[in-house]
Amino acid sequence: MFDVVTGGAGFIGSHLVDALVAQGNEVLVIDNLSVNGTETIDRHIKSGKVRLRKVDLLTEGWQDSLTGARRVYHLAADPDVRQSAVTPDPTIQNNILATYRVLEAMRTHSVREIVFTSTSTIYGEATVIPTPEDYTPLEPISVYGASKLACEALISAYCHSFDMRSWVFRFANIIGERSGHGVITDFIQKLKNNPAKLEILGDGRQTKSYLEVHACVEAMLYAVGHAKDPVNTFNIGSEDWIDVKTIADIVAVEMHLEKVRQRFTGGTRGWVGDVPKMQLGVEKIKALGWKPRIGSQESVRIATRAMLGSR
Ligand code: NAD
Repeated sequence: MFDVVTGGAGFIGSHLVDALVAQGNEVLVIDNLSVNGTETIDRHIKSGKVRLRKVDLLTEGWQDSLTGARRVYHLAADPDVRQSAVTPDPTIQNNILATYRVLEAMRTHSVREIVFTSTSTIYGEATVIPTPEDYTPLEPISVYGASKLACEALISAYCHSFDMRSWVFRFANIIGERSGHGVITDFIQKLKNNPAKLEILGDGRQTKSYLEVHACVEAMLYAVGHAKDPVNTFNIGSEDWIDVKTIADIVAVEMHLEKVRQRFTGGTRGWVGDVPKMQLGVEKIKALGWKPRIGSQESVRIATRAMLGSR
């Protein structure tokens, strides 16, 4: 038996692959390598623990490779919230359509378990913070959030219609080594280009919860091992939050820059579809037996150091 990880060459996917290999599992990665090359998983491919199928989920021909798999960890997606407000189509294709195709391939090849990476953005601008899993109404304000909510609905329907089981994880901001997008990547890049000045999108007071990627993967695997309903939905994040200005200060300190002039573009959000305040309630996964051992500030510091070391 082997596990399938779609998007396994990506940021979170490659850390998940590390953890599955460490558990002794064989893994098939399905990825079109649109973000990274194979460098994130090369050592596992060389050791024979991981096979790579370089293919786009929107094409035909890969579906047979699911035969005999124990479970699909479906992480492949277009994760760009900001871009989804500019050109929605790639988000719809790579998120909703690709997820439908994965579910269909699973149904026709008798793979019954799916793990799905959803997002805090399905809650939109929640009025209850920390936001629990049973919060309503679910009114995403980004096409990305809407696409993930649509995927959750499809997964639920497939589980109930075709005797499947799912674990759906609604992530806060996940950060760490190999991350190629998000606020820390943006700040590091800008400060490398100009160490004296940093443009910060919005007023710097957008306040959100961040979790380092190793803790995220640990939480996912814990829940998969312990929750056994047909549809198991959990928030994953830290138990506090941090504002964007403080993240900028931490990144500058970690880059040993003392006199960075911060310039704010203004407004309460960084871009169309940005949720200014986000913290997820994690009581449900805590009741299951997993709790985050680090907070947002420490996560940002660890991730910044790792990202500075790795790129
Ligand atoms: P990433 O961009 O690093 O990884 C996505 C991977 O999917 C890439 O390797 C890409 O090549 C692959 N991919 C995309 N479209 C594909 C397609 N059509 N066919 C085959 N492969 C395809 O992103 P990430 O940050 O690692 O995110 C992983 C998952 O977690 C995504 O589903 C994302 O929506 C979700 N998520 C991430 C965060 C976060 O903070 N990083 C937060 C919430 C949810």
